[in-house]
Amino acid sequence: RRPDIECKLVVLGSGPGGYTAAFRAADLGVDTVLVERYASLGGVCLNVGCIPSKALLHAAAVIDEAEAMATHGVSFGKPKIELDKLRHFKEQVVGKLTGGLAGMARQRKVRTVQGTGSFVSPNELEVKTAEGTKLIRFEQAIIAAGSQAVRLPMFPWDDERVMDSTGALELAEIPKKLLVVGGGIIGLEMATVYAGLGSEVTVVEFMDQLIPGADADLVKPLAKRLGGKLKGVHLRTKVVEAKATKKGIEVRYEGESLPDTTVFDRVLVAVGRSPNGGKIGADKAGVAVSERGFINVDSQMRTNVPHIFAIGDLVGQPMLAHKATHEARVAAEVVAGEKSHFDARVIPSVAYTDPEIAWVGVTEREAKEKGLKVGVGKFPWAASGRAIGIDRTEGFTKLLFDEETHRVVGAGIVGPHAGDLISELALAIEMGAEAADIALTIHPHPTLSESVAMAAEVYEGTITDLY
Ligand code: FAD
Repeated sequence: RRPDIECKLVVLGSGPGGYTAAFRAADLGVDTVLVERYASLGGVCLNVGCIPSKALLHAAAVIDEAEAMATHGVSFGKPKIELDKLRHFKEQVVGKLTGGLAGMARQRKVRTVQGTGSFVSPNELEVKTAEGTKLIRFEQAIIAAGSQAVRLPMFPWDDERVMDSTGALELAEIPKKLLVVGGGIIGLEMATVYAGLGSEVTVVEFMDQLIPGADADLVKPLAKRLGGKLKGVHLRTKVVEAKATKKGIEVRYEGESLPDTTVFDRVLVAVGRSPNGGKIGADKAGVAVSERGFINVDSQMRTNVPHIFAIGDLVGQPMLAHKATHEARVAAEVVAGEKSHFDARVIPSVAYTDPEIAWVGVTEREAKEKGLKVGVGKFPWAASGRAIGIDRTEGFTKLLFDEETHRVVGAGIVGPHAGDLISELALAIEMGAEAADIALTIHPHPTLSESVAMAAEVYEGTITDLY
C-alpha cells in the first residue's frame, strides 16, 4: 500500500514528551508529523493531569487561607461554591495551554494527525482517523504514548461514581462522602481539592506511609494537617471488595486501621499509572516492550530498534512531565543528528498538597539503605520570619551532604511553596555545590528560600542554637 503521508519523523502522542519532541525536531529542520488520538494536544499533563489539578488546588488553597485568617481577625464567611464557574475556570486554564500548543505546531509546520496510531512495520504507522485509516511512512519515530491510570478490578468501573483521576478532575459534583483509594501524590492532591470544596474525605493507603517515595519526616507535617481536614487517613489498609448499591459505593476493607464509613457517594481510585507501551503495535516495528508495558531506552532515548526512540512515562519512573520534556529534547536532537544524551543527575518530585512536599536527589532512607555517608542540615521553619508571618511554621528544609566532599547530594522541603523552592537544590546538585557555596550565597530576607542557606549553615555548624 502507498503511504498517505511521508515524513522524516513521526511522533506518537502529544503529551509533554511528544509535543516537546515534535517542536524541537521541527526547530532543528526535521520534517515532523505529530499523531494524537484526542482533538486537544497536551496529553495527560495539560488536559487531565498537572494543569487542571493545580487550578483546582488553587481554589482549595484560597478557601483554606481565608478560613485560617478568621482566627487572626479577618473573616470572609462561609465560601459559596458555584461548581459550573469553577469547572469553567479549570477548563479555561487548560484551554489556554492546549490552544497555545496547536498554534505553536502550526507555526513550526508540524503536521498533526488526529487518530489512534499503531505500528505496522519498522517504518510505517497506521492511524485510525475519523476519515478512515491513514498510513504514515517515516524514517525515524519517537514513541511518546504515555500512561494511564491503573484500574483495580474489584471496583464497578461502569458506575460513574467510581472515578480515576480523570473522572475526579471533571468535578461532576461535590460528593458528601468521598473515599480516596491510594495515598500517593495524585490521591492526596485530589483529596485536598475535594476536602476544600466541602466533601467528607476518607483516604486508605496500603503502605505504612503516605507518599511512600518521600522521607517519613517530610510527610509528618502533611499527615498532621490532613488529619485535621479529612474524615480519616488509614494506613496499611486496602479495599478488598466494592459494589455499587442504591445508597452508594459500598466497600469492604482489610488491614490495620479500618475506617468506620463503608458507603460512599463517590470513590476515587488513585493507585498508580501503567505505561501504554503494549498498546501501540510496537512488536510490528520490532520494538521490545516489557511485560508491564515499559519500553527500554539508552541515554539517547533509543529503543532496541536504532531509528525508533521512546520518551516520557512509558520509558520508566518517575512518571513526571519535566522528565518527559527533557527526554524529548534529547530524542529530537539525536534524530536531527546532534550528539545529545540524557544525563541529568537528579529529577525533582513535588506533591502539591498543603503543605507541599518536594524532594530531589538522595533521600535519607536511600542513603541508609545504600550505606552512604551523609550528613544532614535541617532548618525548621519555626525559626523563619517569613514562615511565622504567614502562620505556617510546620515546615522545614533538609539538606543531605556527602560527608567526604561536603557536596549536596539530596534535599527535602515540606511547607507552602516547597515545589518552587526545590529547584535551587536541583541546580546545586547538578553543579556539585558544597555546603559553603549554599551557605555563602546571599538569599533575600525575609523569604522561605533563606531556609535553604540556613540548612547549609546548620550542617556547617555556624547556626547551632535552633533546637
Ligand atoms: P502523556 O501525557 O500520557 O501523553 C501521551 C499522549 O499520547 C496522550 O495524549 C495520549 O492520548 C496519546 N496516545 C497514547 N496512545 C496513542 C495512540 N496509540 N495513538 C495516538 N495517540 C496516543 N507530572 C508532573 O510532573 N507534575 C504534576 O503536577 C503532575 N500532576 C499530575 C496529576 C494527575 C492527576 C496525573 C494523572 C498526572 C500528573 N502528572 C504530573 C504526571 C504527568 O501528567 C505525566 O508524567 C506526563 O503527562 C507524561 O507525559 P508523556 O508525554 O509521557 O505522556
